[in-house]
Amino acid sequence: MITITAVPILEDNYAWLVHDSVKRLTAVVDPGEAEPIAAVIDRDFGGRLEVILNTHHHSDHTGGNLALKARYGSKIFGFGADSARLPGLDYGFVIGERLYFGREEFTVLDCRGHTSGHIGFYSRLSEGLFCGDALFSLGCGRLFEGTAAEAWQTMIRLRDYAAITRVCCGHEYTASNGVFAQFVDPDNKALRLRLAEVSRLRAQGLATVPSRIIEERQINPFLRADDGDFARRIVPRLAQIGVELLPSDLDDPVAVFAALRRAKDVFKP
Ligand code: ZN
Ligand code: FE
Repeated sequence: MITITAVPILEDNYAWLVHDSVKRLTAVVDPGEAEPIAAVIDRDFGGRLEVILNTHHHSDHTGGNLALKARYGSKIFGFGADSARLPGLDYGFVIGERLYFGREEFTVLDCRGHTSGHIGFYSRLSEGLFCGDALFSLGCGRLFEGTAAEAWQTMIRLRDYAAITRVCCGHEYTASNGVFAQFVDPDNKALRLRLAEVSRLRAQGLATVPSRIIEERQINPFLRADDGDFARRIVPRLAQIGVELLPSDLDDPVAVFAALRRAKDVFKP
């Protein structure tokens, strides 16, 4: 069995543990701090951590690298082109490379947009998509270093994974993303149902992720920038918060995505 476990860390981050119970191997994606992760590893996974994976350099995703490496002798993997910003990196990936890990296999994906060196990992057996701050449930990461064109390419790349794929993202932002999603797309019934589920889960202190790619395709506005009808519908909503989407831009997914991202940045619920 390959299992995926979300470990809540810091304010609202998730680190993800991937465990192969037959080979007794454990990997962590984005350890923003060490202690809560070490507690789960020691309690449930035999006190061993072979692999640390980083999606990007931000400290809420890498802050636990060195302490976990010191404690477990783990090897740290991340994007080679961003090696200067990843603490303790042992091995730098190129895009498309695979990391074989017991029976599991992680494929390295280009997820630029949030940062210039953002990558993601697709794990074949567990059908997990570890996308850091590139894609969230009902949202996407802010564009700190990348362009809208790069981020839109990332959205397409992630959206194209199989319907059943689990979106293992870096933050519990679903409820606040949902407020914006509902503002731009108020008549979306699937979105309303998802938001009811999110409220229920949060009231019980439970994680709203991983979600599945199939639902994100229908209700995450940032995955719908190439849907012309959707683009037309959101024009008056974006205008309400001062973001203009020109008629000539409605069939340009990058322009629609950029307008949505700008709108989310200024949106006040
Ligand atoms: Zn980040
Ligand atoms: Fe983050």
